[in-house]
Amino acid sequence: MTAILEARGLTKAFGGLVAVGDVDFAVEEGGITGIIGPNGAGKSTFFNLISLFYRSTSGTITFRGEDVTRLRTHDMPPRGMARTFQTTHLFAEASVLENVIVGYRHRTRAGLLDALIASPRERREIAEARRRAMEALDFVGLADVAHRPAGLISQEQQKRAAIALGLVGGPRLLLLDEPAAGINPEETDDLGRLIRRIAEAGVTVCLIEHKMKMVMGLCDRIMVLHHGRKIAEGTPDQIRTDDAVITAYLGS
Ligand code: ADP
Ligand code: MG
Repeated sequence: MTAILEARGLTKAFGGLVAVGDVDFAVEEGGITGIIGPNGAGKSTFFNLISLFYRSTSGTITFRGEDVTRLRTHDMPPRGMARTFQTTHLFAEASVLENVIVGYRHRTRAGLLDALIASPRERREIAEARRRAMEALDFVGLADVAHRPAGLISQEQQKRAAIALGLVGGPRLLLLDEPAAGINPEETDDLGRLIRRIAEAGVTVCLIEHKMKMVMGLCDRIMVLHHGRKIAEGTPDQIRTDDAVITAYLGS
């Protein structure tokens, strides 16, 4: 197995608070890796570090064999890393499709305003972006709401749209921060199936999730954070029976 992403000694301090402390972590290519831990454990901060959204206090990050520690977050999508955020931010008045097109154009560095002053070449690029955006929406099951304003689709559909935004650039690694937050059990099962299809399509997935049933059913490997530290790592069966994990969850 090769690691698509590797973090060593990753640390983030906010003033005196160590939100992530000295974490070693690897995502194996091809699988689904989960990150769990009680509220405030440092999961989102950890995601922000590995996606270069935050600059780490210390430690190194290697992505697809390249030391990316000193790069910026916008350097990552062209290298094949995409992420979603814990809260979905779509342009409410723009259509679902337009939102995903902007995501793709952003990925390829061409801005939204280019559409207004488009040369023939740019028009072709926009047509290509549109095709890819439609493909991504179809994959996540949103083809029929593609032309609806993003503000008018359901919470669960917005989650899917955010995933389409992540997928549209054709990433090798997709990071999902609590994809199932705020949706019902049936929708959560559907989302789990979507995440599995993403992995089967060859995109490595790493997700933060609170819903244990989903994490345990979906992930090949799981890392557990508590107070910014890695307290356990292993298969779902190993994690389920780990004393430190049980104690951390009972105490929270
Ligand atoms: P989780 O996602 O596991 O719930 P977070 O990574 O959001 O945890 O937060 C970990 C800790 O870091 C918390 O104590 C939180 O208050 C703190 N924290 C997170 N982001 C910031 C920030 N930008 N500035 C200061 N403290 C932060
Ligand atoms: Mg979080």
